[in-house]
Amino acid sequence: MTRYAMVSDTHLCIGCGDCVVACKTENKIPAGLNRDWIVEATRGTYPDLTTEFRSERCNHCTHATCVTSCPTGASHTWKDSNIVLVAAEKCTGCKACIAACPYDARLLMHPDGYVDKCTFCHHRVDQGLDPACVSSCPTRCMYFGNLDERDSVVSRLLRERSHKVLQPETGNQPQVYYLT
Ligand code: SF4
Ligand code: SF4
Ligand code: SF4
Repeated sequence: MTRYAMVSDTHLCIGCGDCVVACKTENKIPAGLNRDWIVEATRGTYPDLTTEFRSERCNHCTHATCVTSCPTGASHTWKDSNIVLVAAEKCTGCKACIAACPYDARLLMHPDGYVDKCTFCHHRVDQGLDPACVSSCPTRCMYFGNLDERDSVVSRLLRERSHKVLQPETGNQPQVYYLT
């Protein structure tokens, strides 16, 4: 299985939201819905505190509970990889996957009647391009690549820098990493 990963440097993210706008434009996301979002958190211990911005989205988990909970097979993985997609024509809108995702990463409902979420822009990855959010970041704090390739930028960053994933205790094995 190919393991794609996104890595974001929390020391360079300024919370500008350009990644959110790029995603909405690239994927024609309806008004009022987002596939990615910015979280502002506090880093450190008082009085040594700084602000940490994180660009968050579906974590394209290696053990994706949204996929195993889907009764119709609408939630599935792309091309023997960890990229999790939703087949709109198979989605009944039962919301089992929404309940099963520990990260609240699925839009409640697309106006066309299916559950939607980040796709890691697989249509761009298929062409050898980075996801739209990664390509648009003005501080170049986001990276994308294949963790199975030792020399990929994401493999190198995770070898060289301290990092974290969100809620590792879920056991879902999220593949969006944050450099700390
Ligand atoms: Fe952070 Fe880059 Fe997104 Fe701006 S575009 S919020 S700097 S990840
Ligand atoms: Fe599924 Fe949620 Fe993991 Fe994304 S973050 S793969 S929606 S369980
Ligand atoms: Fe949006 Fe694509 Fe980034 Fe996912 S990978 S948040 S779909 S721009």
